Amino acid sequence: MIRINQLKLSPGHTEGELRDKIKRTLRLPEGESFHYEIVRQSIDARKKPDIYYSYTVDVGLQGEQAAVKRSRSKQVSIIVPVQYRFPRCGQRKLQHRPIVIGTGPAGLFCGCMLARHGYSPILLERGKDVDSRKEEVDRFWEGGSLNPECNVQFGEGGAGTFSDGKLNTLVKDKEGLNKEVLSIFVEAGAQESILYDGKPHIGTDILMNVVKNMRKEIIDNGGEVRFDTKVSDIVVRDDGIRAVIAECEGEVLKLEAEVVVFAIGHSARDTFDMLYRRQVPMEAKSFAVGMRVEHPQKMIDVSQYGEGEHKLPPASYKLTAQTEEGRGVYSFCMCPGGYVVNAASEEGRLAVNGMSYSERNGKNANSAIIVSVTPKDYGSEHPLAGIAFQRGLEERAFVSGQGKIPVEYYGNFKAHTKKEEKPSAIGGGYLPQIKGQWKFADVHDIMPESLNRAFVEGMEQFERVIPGYAQDSVLLSGIESRTSSPVRIIRGGNGQSMINGLYPCGEGAGYAGGIMSAAMDGIKIAEHIAREYMPIEEEK
Ligand code: FAD
Repeated sequence: MIRINQLKLSPGHTEGELRDKIKRTLRLPEGESFHYEIVRQSIDARKKPDIYYSYTVDVGLQGEQAAVKRSRSKQVSIIVPVQYRFPRCGQRKLQHRPIVIGTGPAGLFCGCMLARHGYSPILLERGKDVDSRKEEVDRFWEGGSLNPECNVQFGEGGAGTFSDGKLNTLVKDKEGLNKEVLSIFVEAGAQESILYDGKPHIGTDILMNVVKNMRKEIIDNGGEVRFDTKVSDIVVRDDGIRAVIAECEGEVLKLEAEVVVFAIGHSARDTFDMLYRRQVPMEAKSFAVGMRVEHPQKMIDVSQYGEGEHKLPPASYKLTAQTEEGRGVYSFCMCPGGYVVNAASEEGRLAVNGMSYSERNGKNANSAIIVSVTPKDYGSEHPLAGIAFQRGLEERAFVSGQGKIPVEYYGNFKAHTKKEEKPSAIGGGYLPQIKGQWKFADVHDIMPESLNRAFVEGMEQFERVIPGYAQDSVLLSGIESRTSSPVRIIRGGNGQSMINGLYPCGEGAGYAGGIMSAAMDGIKIAEHIAREYMPIEEEK
């Protein structure tokens, strides 16, 4: 296969123009047949106003070596495409079907792979199926009460269902796992463009259908998915897990299993408590907290693409800063044309996050601006101290907004933090785009002073990169406290905890930080199980 890097074309170009560019780059004689696949498409706006789409494409044709030579271009080389392969199955017999707890990306992908390879997994999910979940979440956002078992964190699809569905990852992909995850998403109904888009995203509207189709595939391949079923305890004997205890509509069930995957996400605080009581080894880990910031999308488009009309998608950005005290401050989960959402999962506590639809056509761009925190900030050495720290912030956010999302102009937040006079009037005139109830409040009361200072220092550095980023009228809402897990459940090289057969998986266990890495970790755990055990179907 021939790979061509950095093929540049103007926005709005046609498919024919891309084919012509490939032909010209390879100096192909007229009429020579070839096929190509786009491997990556990204926007190159470094030399505004000249903006290009930059492509990496793989080309197949007769006489590839000769074509590379003839091209005399450094952009052109021969590559061997990486094809993902599931490992050969092990020899141990399973006494019971494997249990996967959680249907977020980690649990769904683990379950999907186990089902595809004959392991007939049982997936247990405390929340509801995605349609009932959407009704529950909409009702909450419209002012109804919070359902602590089914919300933006819990339910089919996990925390990513009401999200922007960004699929970026920094995980190295030597085995083709990244492409495998994207292909499974496409098979389940996601846009084909995610296979090559440099900044792939699905959008909450499409994601809901995707998770439904993945559930269907798991069931069609012999798996089972049970909703409203919360795992509340485990049975451990002879150093190994033997069963899980689950609560389902008032009934308590005991489900025997010697393989149990805990893909519970970072918000299952009661489940972390239970695992801690059962002496599952775990440790506190660093994460980051901060505020969602909103700017008009138009302002972000101008900063990234320049003035004028462009045939380009709503622009995104990525920002990082280092404070004088040595804290990292950075943008996280940026949602172009998106909405801030109430992502609470516990009564009396409030957390925010960001979401967008596939078109990303909301008026505002939002992003979390978060400050790194370490176990030193938690005030205790306890493995679950990070959760207590999060809870404290979320309680203050709830109080600040009297149960609604508290929103404050950055100008006021900064004046309070720097002990300066508040601006007398703040113009700007744009409103927050929020799913959930909100009110103007003292957001500056939520975080400790030291974190507020770091936040402001970061914003001031970002102003130098994107003019207007730290103007007074920028809208802040808080608190962004569920950025990643404050806990790591320790696991060995075989994917298992010290308790044999207990597989910590995904973001909650501390092995992922987003949809893609959680999905990839789900597949890795399925691989660990397969290397050890033979499929259930073969036993029959
Ligand atoms: P989760 O998705 O959290 O899934 C865990 C599941 O386990 C949940 O469904 C939960 O109900 C279930 N569960 C927990 N405890 C139990 C129990 N005891 N019994 C039974 N079931 C249980 N990441 C991105 O990469 N891109 C984005 O654009 C993005 N946007 C986001 C927007 C929002 C609003 C939120 C909340 C998160 C967003 N994230 C995004 C983060 C991303 O969703 C998570 O990284 C990812 O979902 C983690 O996957 P997971 O499977 O490890 O855990």
